[in-house]
Amino acid sequence: MTLVTPAPSTRTGHWMSDPGFGVYVHIPFCKHRCHYCDFNTYEGQDELHDRYVEALVGEIARWEGPVAPATSVFFGGGTPTLLTSRQLGRILAAVEQRLGIPPDAEITIEANPETIDGPHLEGLLEAGFGRISIGVQSLVPRVLLGLGRTHPPRRALDAIAAARAAGFTDINADLIYGSPWETAADWVTSLEGVIASGVDHVSAYALTVEEGTPLHTLIRTKRVRDVDPDVQAERHGVADDLLGAAGFARYEVSNWAQPGRASRHNVLYWSAGNYLGFGAGAHAHLDGRRWWSTRLPRDFIDAVGSSASTEEGSEVLHEDQRAGEALMLGLRLVSGVHLGAFRDRFGTAPLEARAPIFVTLAEAGLLERADGRLRLSERGTLLANEALCELL
Ligand code: SF4
Repeated sequence: MTLVTPAPSTRTGHWMSDPGFGVYVHIPFCKHRCHYCDFNTYEGQDELHDRYVEALVGEIARWEGPVAPATSVFFGGGTPTLLTSRQLGRILAAVEQRLGIPPDAEITIEANPETIDGPHLEGLLEAGFGRISIGVQSLVPRVLLGLGRTHPPRRALDAIAAARAAGFTDINADLIYGSPWETAADWVTSLEGVIASGVDHVSAYALTVEEGTPLHTLIRTKRVRDVDPDVQAERHGVADDLLGAAGFARYEVSNWAQPGRASRHNVLYWSAGNYLGFGAGAHAHLDGRRWWSTRLPRDFIDAVGSSASTEEGSEVLHEDQRAGEALMLGLRLVSGVHLGAFRDRFGTAPLEARAPIFVTLAEAGLLERADGRLRLSERGTLLANEALCELL
């Protein structure tokens, strides 16, 4: 497969009235479970890898719904790079065969530092992956240990350098801030380290404490102090300052990119676009219908093997719900939602129905209107989740 990097014009990070068609592929395996993780992933299931790949290929091949070329493909997890590049290439080839992948599609794979080396990275490029998202999380040993990550900081920086040396021109570093183990100086160390590594994109998320995780237990039993939203807001500001000074522009609440390097796949989600999801626990959305697959890898394999449906649940959004959700998602983008394009897609009624909420949010200093766009203010960005829920 010969692929080129998507044109910068499609990767501005702006809300898109026609966001394309995405494909998400879920690989639900990890070497070790991090203390904060509540994703659909499992450790110690290496013996399932081959069968899971077969099931995924089968699931993609038997897709009978609408077909459109995938303008972005995202392999997430879990840790996709626990699979070999040959296995991952087979899955990607199945997507190409069933749906088609245009030459300028954005094709991303998530990777953890300890699972990639030169030959694996070269294999991924050869298979057709053009963008890699590396789980750095922190560059401070004490913070990584607290989070339950198994790689040392050096390994993450080596992974970024190896990806660049192999030929990846589109590299993201994932970071987590505001954990109980992190000081303000630690956060600066992590940011400066990833900036110096020369990545093209940074995703930095405030640590959230999910029920049922070891982190939740540690906090509930007072062995570790809770996360502090004020501290996290400060750290978000520090990220904005340091990344901004290094030429990154924030295009979404938690995402910064060098010019023309915003993630097209992420923008598709925030533009309420259509995407298929393949694999255990994967979610999909087509024109207001959402559905998700059975979560356990074994159940997924068995379902595909017996030609049964993998769908575990679904919901259909009515027109106004779709519009409300599109607004809520789109306002996470820094440039906000283009009102003219929004009206073309959803009509004027959803905006009129929410006019009083817009006024309340604007009076509270959370929302602003300028240049035909509706967007969150700086303060609104920090309170994004609370502010945006009002729009549903
Ligand atoms: S690597 Fe990611 S998906 Fe895997 S356990 Fe850690 S946080 Fe979860």
